[in-house]
Amino acid sequence: MRATLIDGKSLAATVRAAQRNAIDALAARGVRPGLAAILVGSDPASRVYVRTKARACEETGVRSEIHEFPDGVSEKALLERVAQLNADPRVHGILVQLPLPRQLDSNRVLEAVSPAKDVDGFHAMNLGALLQGRTGFVPGTPAGVMRMLEHAGVPLAGKNATIVGRSTIVGKPLALLLLQKDATVTICHSKTRDLAAVTRQADILIAAVGRAKLIHAGMVKPGACVIDVGTNRLADGKLAGDVDFESVSAVAASISPVPGGVGPMTVAMMIANTVRAAELSIG
Ligand code: NAP
Repeated sequence: MRATLIDGKSLAATVRAAQRNAIDALAARGVRPGLAAILVGSDPASRVYVRTKARACEETGVRSEIHEFPDGVSEKALLERVAQLNADPRVHGILVQLPLPRQLDSNRVLEAVSPAKDVDGFHAMNLGALLQGRTGFVPGTPAGVMRMLEHAGVPLAGKNATIVGRSTIVGKPLALLLLQKDATVTICHSKTRDLAAVTRQADILIAAVGRAKLIHAGMVKPGACVIDVGTNRLADGKLAGDVDFESVSAVAASISPVPGGVGPMTVAMMIANTVRAAELSIG
């Protein structure tokens, strides 16, 4: 058996094309959605992520601006800039690229972003709304994974969905979204005993760990759907997921690749949030 590919890159292009219609409708009302990204320090990966998001915005018709700060920036200066962006009517979405340098309290900075402009969905109000099943901004990566599962026609109700990784930006919100779709959800982490025994029960297995090729064929139930969130830079510079794509493809029914899977969907969903924020700003 060879697994069907869940192509996040082409689905992301479809999602972004659909956003262009909404952007045209906003233009007719004199509004162009705008995204401001805050980038602190010189971390090469963060710089690449921010520039990728900015480029995707411009290609889709969303105005983007990058606010760069040196590693040693004070929290006060950062919070002042967030306050300015909160008040700027041309900015509908604000994202703070993580991780921030150690001297900065990430939670304090994220909480300073207006929930109405929190298109990353990391503000406690938006995460709380998700917990309560109310409408808010959902973080792009879990939203993107859900869209991929929907597009691939993967049934969720009553199925065992297992997520490896319990971060606030991926694992936990994704668990809530899967619960909303009536999956039976298990979350694994670094203290989970006999990880393989747990993952082998999964009809839907999602890896969000940050360890190249952690998930191998022996950990996957035959016929499962496997979604790989991980992005790991290998010694040769290549990007690898958390899933050993070659061996798992022989066991799973469907699988998402890295690159070209969850990554482009994360960006597309963040853009969709920015367009929605612009729509909500004019009622
Ligand atoms: P994170 O905050 O570092 O969380 C990693 C999680 O993996 C933690 O819950 C950790 O457990 C768990 N873990 C670590 N080693 C494990 C092991 N051996 N067995 C089982 N669980 C283990 O990472 P994150 O921010 O969620 O990101 C995870 C991965 O997704 C990274 O590769 C990241 O680059 C990638 N990512 C990709 C996108 C995208 O758009 N494609 C977006 C976000 C993140 P503990 O909680 O016990 O420490």
